[in-house]
Amino acid sequence: MSYLKKIEYEIIPKDSFWVIRSCSKCGRKTHFKNTKKFRVNANGNKLDIWLIYQCEECKHTLNLAIYERQKVSSIPKEEYQSFLDNNERLTERYGKNMQLFRKNKADIDFDRIKFETNK
Ligand SMILES: [Zn+2]
Repeated sequence: MSYLKKIEYEIIPKDSFWVIRSCSKCGRKTHFKNTKKFRVNANGNKLDIWLIYQCEECKHTLNLAIYERQKVSSIPKEEYQSFLDNNERLTERYGKNMQLFRKNKADIDFDRIKFETNK
C-alpha cells in the first residue's frame, strides 16, 4: 500500500521579473527593470499598449507590448483607464506575467526572482 501524498501549492513571484538582455546603449548584457509605467498609443480606433522596462545602468528603455493594433472596443474600459493611470497593481501584474515576456522574447533572470508560496 502506498501512502504517497501529493502536495500542491502555488509558487508566486513577489516582485516583477527582471529582464536580462544586451543593452544597445551600454553595449553589453544588463538588467532591465519594471518602471511601473505603461505607454499607450492611440491610432484611430486601434491601440498599442506597452509596459515600460528600463536598463538599470543607463535607463535605456525597453517596451514590452501588451496590446498591438488592438481595437479600442475590445479592451475593457476599466483596464484601459488603469493603463492610462499607470495603475501600480496592474503594472505589477503584467510584470509577473510569464506570457508577456515570452511574447516579447524577453529573457527573465530567474536568479533574481524571490518567490513565496501560499501554502
Ligand atoms: Zn544600458
